[in-house]
Amino acid sequence: MDEEIKKGHFIESIIQQDIKNNKNNGSVVTRFPPEPNGYLHIGHAKSICLNFNMAKKFNGKCNLRFDDSNPAKEKQVYIDSIKSTVNWLGFKFDTPLFASDYFDRLYAFAVELIKKDKAYVCSLSAEKIREYRGTLTEPGKNSPYRERSIQENLDLFRQMKNGEFGEGEHTLRAKIDMTSPNINLRDPIIYRVKKASHPRTRDKWCIYPMYDFTHCLSDSLEGITHSLCSLEFEDHRPLYDWIIDALETPCHPQQIEFARMNITYTVLSKRKLQRLVEENHVTGWDDPRLPTLEGMRRRGYTPEAITNFCDMIGVSKKDSRIDMGLLESCLRDDLNERAPRVMGVLKPLKVIIENYPDDRTEELIAKNHPQQEGMGSRTITFSKEIYVEQDDFMEDPPKKFFRLGPGREVRLRYAYLVTCKEVIKDESGTVTQLICTYDPATKGGNAPDGRKVKGTIHWVNANDCMDATVRLYDRLFKDENPEQDKQDFIENLNPDSLETLTSCKLEKSLITAEPEAAFQFERLGYFCLDSKDATKDTPVFNRTVTLRDAWAKLQKG
Ligand code: ATP
Ligand code: MG
Repeated sequence: MDEEIKKGHFIESIIQQDIKNNKNNGSVVTRFPPEPNGYLHIGHAKSICLNFNMAKKFNGKCNLRFDDSNPAKEKQVYIDSIKSTVNWLGFKFDTPLFASDYFDRLYAFAVELIKKDKAYVCSLSAEKIREYRGTLTEPGKNSPYRERSIQENLDLFRQMKNGEFGEGEHTLRAKIDMTSPNINLRDPIIYRVKKASHPRTRDKWCIYPMYDFTHCLSDSLEGITHSLCSLEFEDHRPLYDWIIDALETPCHPQQIEFARMNITYTVLSKRKLQRLVEENHVTGWDDPRLPTLEGMRRRGYTPEAITNFCDMIGVSKKDSRIDMGLLESCLRDDLNERAPRVMGVLKPLKVIIENYPDDRTEELIAKNHPQQEGMGSRTITFSKEIYVEQDDFMEDPPKKFFRLGPGREVRLRYAYLVTCKEVIKDESGTVTQLICTYDPATKGGNAPDGRKVKGTIHWVNANDCMDATVRLYDRLFKDENPEQDKQDFIENLNPDSLETLTSCKLEKSLITAEPEAAFQFERLGYFCLDSKDATKDTPVFNRTVTLRDAWAKLQKG
């Protein structure tokens, strides 16, 4: 292979080589083909990025096509959600396409197959079909209906279409080879009777084409050049090619398989995600703990973090499970650039600054971003009563605890150096308040006498802050691979995946926060206003991700 072709992943190399050979006149057309039977998850993002990026890179186009040939499970809400999610990720598509728009043509293709004696109506029951199919080690047996005349097949197929038979009475099967080592080629069913109303074609059809028949022909009708799909379809490729070769189709797309994305501590399968939702282990499809793109969006993930992650993990033919830590680090890298800094106290401890004038409120200037001057600054206020984080105080702190403790001096971010003078407790011995003094000469945080104060902590003005609920999320599962060991994956759920803090105190500027917009709460992590549960009276913030990987540290012990 040429030097220049070695760059990029293997699919990119194949496409480059095809262009060089002027295959398909050098054009590239790809598609992302979701079945609208659920919401998209991060695994789908891999396929979306791959298909759209290959089209973009080679000046081609990528279709969004709904593979909607199974009316039993498909719904309009999924169609709407998928469209808006692909848009949100930043990919542009023409009018979405639907396999159901091709039902007439697919029917005509099926008739063509019958006329070529390459398909027949089979009247075996589902159970018998299974029995006749054989196993991985035994060949199958021909159906007794395999040698029906072409005319009889045409008549029966028309009757199937006209609703004259019940479900399961007859199927249309491709006539291939019942002894093939590839079970997919043992006369696969290509049409079945299904008396179900379709979200788009309503009651027009009572027979529906099977996935394998629909997919390759839809690809061909759209002039797809490279049909990229996940590895589980590798064994279906001979059938894909057989159908295209058997018919007069516009073109023969090339199916290329790649490994699905798997991520530690989560599950990526619509069926499993559905169980989590239906059994109320999570609050819905957009629960911020789920790997659904709607859930991740609500949690505060940015499209850039997700697409960067997909770029980073690349595309290969080898199955693997990617460390969730890598996804989170892509997220941190992106949020670090774009998130304005603010201060918020999650577990407040009241501090009274004894020597600060009672009625004074001071305005301090705080930078919105330490590196990005362009993000400007804002005014925050300081007064005699502030809140600090309970965790930033210890009554009997070890030497290296550079925060508050009796007699210890600490820097209040953007404000002054304060020293803890007295600790107030309630009857049960819980610390309820600290009495501190401040050094008026240290405005901005530096002591004129040059004394060193190592720790800096965040705070909010108790007289000028807002109350909020903050949700802290942790891994949804306890185990790296929740699906292993044949045990039910539900048993691996992390019971502590959500912690809700209801008495948080945040700086006032957050009153104008827009849902999903990222903020860094200094020292704590990245947060965004929840798009669903927050109201003007009770804002709810989601922790998108912590600043550092607290989990990895914990695991290392
Ligand atoms: P699930 O198993 O979650 O139900 P699916 O493959 O049935 O997923 P589809 O709607 O059929 O979902 O998928 C649309 C496209 O997304 C397909 O081309 C499929 O290969 C791809 N895809 C789905 N899951 C992943 C994944 N985890 N990694 C990469 N691609 C995926
Ligand atoms: Mg599927």
